[in-house]
Amino acid sequence: MNLKLLNDAKRIIVKIGSTLLVDPENGNIRVDWLRLLAEDLKTMSESGSEIIIVTSGAIAAGRRDLGLGSDRLRLEESQAAAASGQVRLAHAYASALQASGLIAAQVLLTIDDMDSRRRYLNARNTITTLLQLNAIPVINENDTIATTEIRFGDNDRLAAGVAAMMSADVLILLSSDIDGLYSADPNSDKKAEWIPVVQRITPEIEAMAGSTISSDSSGGMVTKLIAARAATAAGCNMVITSGKGRKPLQRLLSGGRSTWFMAKRSPISARKHWIFSVLQPRGELVVDNGAVDALDRGKSLLPAGVKVVEGNFERGDSVLVLDLNGNKVGRGLVAYSAADATKIIGHKTTAIEKILGYSGRDEMIHRDDLVLENEK
Ligand code: GLU
Repeated sequence: MNLKLLNDAKRIIVKIGSTLLVDPENGNIRVDWLRLLAEDLKTMSESGSEIIIVTSGAIAAGRRDLGLGSDRLRLEESQAAAASGQVRLAHAYASALQASGLIAAQVLLTIDDMDSRRRYLNARNTITTLLQLNAIPVINENDTIATTEIRFGDNDRLAAGVAAMMSADVLILLSSDIDGLYSADPNSDKKAEWIPVVQRITPEIEAMAGSTISSDSSGGMVTKLIAARAATAAGCNMVITSGKGRKPLQRLLSGGRSTWFMAKRSPISARKHWIFSVLQPRGELVVDNGAVDALDRGKSLLPAGVKVVEGNFERGDSVLVLDLNGNKVGRGLVAYSAADATKIIGHKTTAIEKILGYSGRDEMIHRDDLVLENEK
């Protein structure tokens, strides 16, 4: 049943950890392994799934080149290592994917890109465009400029953030040391039992990871559970499996050992819930009857249909959409600030660039960012 989830997934995130990708002995990127993985990815993309990679390995690949040895690095040192290693990482992905006829496109994100609405929309739009252009986004944290306070710190969490941002259906965590969740550490406890499916992350499940989840833990199963919680809350199913050896994705697809963490709702309904119930509206757009009809027919809200702009919102904020009688029609993430929105309302989309001096989005609120009253 879970394999069906994978086969049916429209959008899949594959997270690859440092230890899988970079040989800790010599800092070399395992290019042969990566080439085979690219073949795996090609098969997945040919069966109709969009793929996004979240990769670690920049620090591991860069530290040796800079003579930083194997001791724990200071923040500035790991940032320097990432700056150097990320270049090699990007090169390795570009050539491995190219050998399978795929195009790699590097995206470096910070936690701000997920927290700030405006940047969140930008990152999401760019990654969506890359997917439409059949490229495979290869994402890492922008370690070089991230400071301790604004770091994800581990890519399991980054991958879950990307899964939520991109409304992914499945997040695959390829692990270097474990092929799933066990009732105890299988390396030290012979009686440890494998858990194939987790419907809900209960305190019992947390206890299996070795310690209770706290926001500052990092590494190992604990961060994987934090990632699972974030991904499943966003409607994305998550699976942990071993990334070791040849073609781990094919292995997973043919029933290889793994643990699935099941999402309670679909990514779309989780996103709608987020827009409707979590975000505070920062303003209002009053729209004409033609726009109300268009929205009911599943269209986006265009500037031409907006009559009045109220409030002081920024691009990416949530706003209420009202009809001419003041009834709530829905709410959504607006593509323009209140100041710019005021200038372009009533105008055709083609006039936006001339009025604002830059070419923004065609829509005031894109359909994917809009939830109508009757859909909430
Ligand atoms: N972003 C870090 C790197 O590429 C890795 C973070 C992690 O290990 O999860 O080196």
